[in-house]
Amino acid sequence: MLLPINQYGDRVLREVCAPVTDTTGLETLAQDMLETMYAAHGIGLAAPQIGRSIRMVVINVCPPDDEDAAEDGEELCTVNGEERPVRSIMPLIFINPEIEPYGKNELFTEGCLSVHNVRANVIRPDRVRAKLPQLDGSVLELDCGGLLARCLQHECDHLDGHLFVDRVSSAARITLKKKLQRLCDRRR
Ligand SMILES: [Zn+2]
Repeated sequence: MLLPINQYGDRVLREVCAPVTDTTGLETLAQDMLETMYAAHGIGLAAPQIGRSIRMVVINVCPPDDEDAAEDGEELCTVNGEERPVRSIMPLIFINPEIEPYGKNELFTEGCLSVHNVRANVIRPDRVRAKLPQLDGSVLELDCGGLLARCLQHECDHLDGHLFVDRVSSAARITLKKKLQRLCDRRR
């Protein structure tokens, strides 16, 4: 089922999401979130973006029907101590993530399904170590770089009410300000 995606200006996007304590119904929600994300041509979607203020995220950095993503899927990551192609762990569905970004800072152009038609350069560390609890109670321990590391940081930001536009340089923010204001005006 396709879900409506909350947009910039909606308060739910600014809330600190609650930890998941009961996974009842979340498998269905996760599948709906993936379907919604694919339909919108995104690579990640956090629960607050569909109006649920809980710490849950879905990611697929090499979505089906996206030939350009094949390259990212070939990249290697470490999963529970074992080296594997990123593709083999997609799609990722997790709750209550703990992430630790590390490595060198890198500039990358980000967009967001909740910030329509805005793209901006954001500096973030290029690697992430993460503990990603799964809906079945197991925990996926991940060490990765590339697009997945970027996506994990962006999505986990959503769980704390942060958006990528909060993280742009102050000069870039001036340019963004009008665009963002227009998005807010449209919401009223
Ligand atoms: Zn986003």
